Amino acid sequence: MVASRAGTGLVAGGRVAGETRAVDSRPAGRAAAARIWAGLDKPGQEAFRQAWEALRTGNIAVGACASTAGGETICSARNRVNDRDGPPGEIFGSALAHAEANVLARLPFGRREDLVLTTTLQPCLQCAAAIRLGPVATVRFAGADRYWDGCHEFGRLSVRETRRVQPARIGPRSDELGAFATVISRLAHLPPGYEQALRALVDGPAVDLVRELQDSGEVERLAAMDVAGGIGYLWPRLRELTTVLPG
Ligand SMILES: [Zn+2]
Repeated sequence: MVASRAGTGLVAGGRVAGETRAVDSRPAGRAAAARIWAGLDKPGQEAFRQAWEALRTGNIAVGACASTAGGETICSARNRVNDRDGPPGEIFGSALAHAEANVLARLPFGRREDLVLTTTLQPCLQCAAAIRLGPVATVRFAGADRYWDGCHEFGRLSVRETRRVQPARIGPRSDELGAFATVISRLAHLPPGYEQALRALVDGPAVDLVRELQDSGEVERLAAMDVAGGIGYLWPRLRELTTVLPG
């Protein structure tokens, strides 16, 4: 049986003369993380950079980026719920200061409705509504957020919404990057009621990893890395999460 030791990336990887030899899995994790990072397009990388900046600044680690259908970045933003200031036009210091809302707040009213909004986390109720009202044709997201599952289905609300074309949705990812996006979004804000709700939604393993990172002081270590380094650092545990979380 392969034993794993959370937090180190070390696994027991063979036996020599009756002893267990520890094999450092971290280089392999870093290489796999580098590959998945290189596979992201520019708006995807920018959204994760923004999420990481949110993590480093004590905000909820979610980032977002608006781009054209051709992949040209228009603007990006991050969660600022705990910030005391922010760029002109963005929301900060309130429960409304979500990454997607801040991207949309920077887009002028009345522009063509053909943009792609890339976000690191499945949009919440507020952001799904803002996306519905904004110039967004497609929303792409990496991490699942089961807390808000179903809150984008505006076709249920009225006959008019049923007839209207809703933004296309691509996500969540079922790979390590998707797990990463979900986990980092819980690091700064996980009050008991929220945790209880997530556990009831079969998100317990992700919550367990969040608590492990908080209790071990690893959040501070992560914040000293860049985002690709953070993915590599967490890789073995993200991989484990992908095997136990519901698809
Ligand atoms: Zn939101």
